[in-house]
Amino acid sequence: MLAVLDTIAATRAAIGQRRSGGTIGLVPTMGALHAGHASLIQRARRDCATVVVSVFVNPLQFDRREDLERYPQSLEADLELCRRDGVDIVFAPTVSEMYPRPMEMAVDVGRLADHLCGRFRPGHFQGVATVVLKLLQIVQPDVAYFGEKDAQQLAVVRRLVTDFNVPVRIAGVPTVREPDGLALSSRNLRLSAEERRLAPCLYAALQRAAASVDDGATNAPEIARDAATLVPADGRLRLEYLELVDPEDFQPVTRISGPVIAAGALWVGRTRLIDNVRCTPPTQDGPPEGGHDA
Ligand code: AMP
Repeated sequence: MLAVLDTIAATRAAIGQRRSGGTIGLVPTMGALHAGHASLIQRARRDCATVVVSVFVNPLQFDRREDLERYPQSLEADLELCRRDGVDIVFAPTVSEMYPRPMEMAVDVGRLADHLCGRFRPGHFQGVATVVLKLLQIVQPDVAYFGEKDAQQLAVVRRLVTDFNVPVRIAGVPTVREPDGLALSSRNLRLSAEERRLAPCLYAALQRAAASVDDGATNAPEIARDAATLVPADGRLRLEYLELVDPEDFQPVTRISGPVIAAGALWVGRTRLIDNVRCTPPTQDGPPEGGHDA
């Protein structure tokens, strides 16, 4: 039976009752759940005795008011998906439950937010790190699941729990895509039919970067420039960034000598989409299939 709770006290009590029964897994989300979220939930269901999903559109991490106001919300459908995938507890607090008064403190994410989304969305990762720290304190899970789709966010969260000694394991889950390559995202709901047709060019460009790296190219800015040519010249499209960065510290790489992440942000009409692809140079082949733990 799914328990849907909107207070911190009730959530802590419900989890407290189950804690002796085995591991607790947390999947933090902002709702408008889709198959990408479901993949995190299913992974948590396989790993853990209790699965908690949080649904909270966190105002602290929105740098543009319009984005927050237009963010899709569909709690009833989200609960249906959670029921279907065997979630035990949904924690869906109000803003005033999470922030009864304005926060005085915040997590400073340092250099990890200097580039990519951190550069173009001031305060975004500080808001993410702050709410994730709160959710980890409220739920106290053994494992928390995050998508590789938001690779910079995953790096911020990994560093957050290391730097603050939070006793939780962070699990990264591969990106779920549409058949044409577009990464699933709640924001895809905002695309018109024509915009939806254009949107997969971001993934195509990132794949081109990965192919160049795989072919042995090492000049990162050149690889990025070449990849960007796959975004058609169309008034509805604006590539905000496409860069190759180090997978740990998210600093830009100029000469490739190991694995990198090609990351991009594309405006499609009024909607901003992000995606990334891991690139491995030919001399640095990854571990054999199935041989590594995401
Ligand atoms: P959001 O609701 O957008 O904040 O996402 C909640 C979690 O789901 C984050 O850890 C995301 O990285 C993850 N996620 C979102 N889209 C996908 C996707 N297409 N594939 C895998 N994980 C995803």
